[in-house]
Amino acid sequence: MIKQFFSYYKPHKRLFIIDFSSAVFVALLELAFPLAVQWFIDDLLPGKDWNVIVTVSILLLLVYILSTFLQFIVSYLGHKLGINIETDMREELFTHVQRQSFRFFDNTKTGHIMSRITNDLFDIGELAHHGPEDAFISIMTFTGAFWIMFTINPELALIALVMVPLLIALVTFCNFAMNRAWHNMYSNIADVNARVEDAVSGVRVVQSFTNEEFEINRFKIDNGKFRKEKIHAYKIMAATHSSMYMMTRLLTLVVLVVGAWFVFTNQLNYGELVGFVLYTNVLIKPIDKVSALLELYPKGMAGFKRFQELIKKAPEIIDRPNAKKVDHLTGNIQFNQVSFSYDKYQTVLNNIDLQITSGETVAFVGPSGAGKTTICSLIPRFYDVDDGAITIDGIDIRDVTKHSLRAQIGIVQQDVFLFTGTIKENIAYGNRNATDDEIYLAAKKAHLDEVIQQLPDGYDTQIGERGLKLSGGQKQRLAIARTFLKNPPILILDEATSALDTETERLIQQSLDELATNRTTLVIAHRLATIKDADRVVVVTKDGIAEQGTYEELLAKNGIFARLHAIQYTR
Ligand code: ADP
Ligand code: MG
Repeated sequence: MIKQFFSYYKPHKRLFIIDFSSAVFVALLELAFPLAVQWFIDDLLPGKDWNVIVTVSILLLLVYILSTFLQFIVSYLGHKLGINIETDMREELFTHVQRQSFRFFDNTKTGHIMSRITNDLFDIGELAHHGPEDAFISIMTFTGAFWIMFTINPELALIALVMVPLLIALVTFCNFAMNRAWHNMYSNIADVNARVEDAVSGVRVVQSFTNEEFEINRFKIDNGKFRKEKIHAYKIMAATHSSMYMMTRLLTLVVLVVGAWFVFTNQLNYGELVGFVLYTNVLIKPIDKVSALLELYPKGMAGFKRFQELIKKAPEIIDRPNAKKVDHLTGNIQFNQVSFSYDKYQTVLNNIDLQITSGETVAFVGPSGAGKTTICSLIPRFYDVDDGAITIDGIDIRDVTKHSLRAQIGIVQQDVFLFTGTIKENIAYGNRNATDDEIYLAAKKAHLDEVIQQLPDGYDTQIGERGLKLSGGQKQRLAIARTFLKNPPILILDEATSALDTETERLIQQSLDELATNRTTLVIAHRLATIKDADRVVVVTKDGIAEQGTYEELLAKNGIFARLHAIQYTR
């Protein structure tokens, strides 16, 4: 997995090399600094020569400027590297998710995909930046500082070394506590978020039941829990910082006192003592960094693992290598012994045979859950059949590219999904190469033009969150306009008007009839009045296709259809 992780550095090799070598250089300068001070005190001060002092000071200033510049590079380019890798991964993930088949979305929660794309990738980006760099630099400065301390005075170095494990233990313990505190805080903010989302998107329900107080109280409880956890987290953070402070001062103090004794017994110079004290401070930084890494590493790697799990899921429905592009299908659809199930628990379609000729309008009726929508989902290959085959114009749809097949099929459903943006953009979704005139024409055909003209910004009106500013009928007209623009030879209308009142339905029916003209049309209808003019009616039940024929023929047959009809018309 580490190898896969590092493969994401490849496109940014140059950035990594510049950042990494700058970081190494900064660390080397940091290591050399106490030595310079020691030399300054022990070798330069006794000479009492101002010229030398000034020259050395100017040199030091130049080194500082260089180091400052390099630190800027490290901080800037290092983060840039992390952000680049994060962005690459996010793009890869989004692309991958967009290509997934319906079954993937049946089985994956939107919230999970969201947190993969945001939270997880933040952690991965941070790890990508800090991981290799900090690990290497820390080991380097830590061993470097000790090595120099040993050469100055081995006994004093040993005393400092003895205190280091204590320091590491403290840091690790504090980090552990911090981790747990952050984790609790994050899960609490997730609860708060969920509450807000519920209360905002469900505000109409909340207010119609006058449950505002109830929601506010529920929110207060979650918000209060979050407050408690966050305060706790910061308390631990404060304790961590202050005890770290204490430990480092203690280390310095011990070095000072023992060092003083070495100075008195002439085993150490003044400069060496100062150098030593400075080195104890150099030692602290890598300990801090490594312990931060110990926290970041499992978080980032866990995120990366989840990322990999998603990325490795191959899309279920893909083009066969020799798949053909189809241009103009006439819409002769044939189901040959088609069987299908969503999961192993239930067979939805069993040996279905069905023949739809080009230009025909076929209505599907039957109890809900019988499999009408499923039959229609198989035609654009949203799912693949388990057994048998579906052909269009004599070609097995699995031998056709997914893209060219779906370009031939228009679908209008009960729920219309509108994207954030203007009305025009939403209509243009049906054909993104359409000219403005074509868009207006499509809106006219869908009898939507008049409505749009009355809006303050006309076609440029922004659609409110989830299209709430449009009525159900208007949204349905927009979906029809979209499909007019797409102009597909095959049309699927899946309960397109079922959510509308009878009056609106009648108005929309006219647009739908116009849309269906000269196309092979599959209509799933709940209200039988809307399918009177269909060329053929197919009755679907749990056992498959039970009856088919014209509306009149089926009524005369006095079977299932006649029964459904009787129920609807005696209400
Ligand atoms: P209809 O459109 O006739 O009401 P559907 O085709 O939607 O019926 O559903 C047929 C059966 O398949 C039902 O039992 C339904 O529960 C099941 N089903 C539909 N969609 C899915 C899905 N995405 N995953 C699992 N089962 C499904
Ligand atoms: Mg359905």
